[in-house]
Amino acid sequence: QLIFMNGEFVTKENAKVSVYDHGFLYGDGVFEGIRAYNGNVFRLNEHLVRLYDSAKSILLEMPFSKEEMSEIVLETLRKNNLSDAYIRLVVSRGPGNLGLDPFSCKQPNVIVIAESLALFPKELYESGIEIVTVASRRNRSDVLSPKVKSLNYLNNILVKIEAGLAGVPEALMLNDQGYVAEGSADNIFIIRDKKILTPPGYVGALEGITRNAIIEIARKKGYSMEEAVFTRHDVYVADEVFLTGTAAEVIAVVKVDGRSIGTGKPGEITNELLQSFRDLVVSDGIK
Ligand code: PLP
Repeated sequence: QLIFMNGEFVTKENAKVSVYDHGFLYGDGVFEGIRAYNGNVFRLNEHLVRLYDSAKSILLEMPFSKEEMSEIVLETLRKNNLSDAYIRLVVSRGPGNLGLDPFSCKQPNVIVIAESLALFPKELYESGIEIVTVASRRNRSDVLSPKVKSLNYLNNILVKIEAGLAGVPEALMLNDQGYVAEGSADNIFIIRDKKILTPPGYVGALEGITRNAIIEIARKKGYSMEEAVFTRHDVYVADEVFLTGTAAEVIAVVKVDGRSIGTGKPGEITNELLQSFRDLVVSDGIK
């Protein structure tokens, strides 16, 4: 396996960063998770726009242009002979001194890792998953906007821990006002009476690339598809619930906090959207 590091490809064993890297010391950096299907990198430009926006927001100067980064991603796939892959782009502030000051870091580390990955086993896409809501909150009023995909994922990790302790694969975060925000690394959609809802970004949800693709697909199919603020109650009484994310793709949720959703099986609209998403990703992308 070859990993891109600052302009060259190195083996996994040699892909190492300094313990003085502020990404390691402070979670100072940004990242993206991207997927390639059938050799097509899905929505690469959208991911790069989000990465560069995140970097700009934390005043991290990217050492490569977007066009160069795009080529680096494609080259990483080629070098590893991968046509279906999960791609992780990491840009850390780079090595500096032990103080917080990012201006002591002279050169960011730019890393691209590509490997095959399946987040959930295949059966779960057929059966759907159970989730719980957790105590960790998505803080809308953080100075750091939830739109920034930073290396500070501790809150999301706590969500994953709470899910694991509850014996379920994923969990749902509410925001500081108790409105439903998102999962640990995925967005949520609910459906009632054929109307599809997903929380708007301002409640504290990342504007997921998969989420945006599903919104487009749903609207194209003529469904009522709106961004709306909703509570746990609305999730419990929905006919269908599903999560979206680059790693999770589209996965049905059949139980939330012990309440069965709809028939207790993945819903019809969810399955239809999942199928359309799968059809889209194999053809829509950058080679
Ligand atoms: N929410 C969070 C916090 C995430 O980290 C992710 C993953 O990137 C998502 C949602 C889903 O976004 P996307 O569909 O762009 O992967």
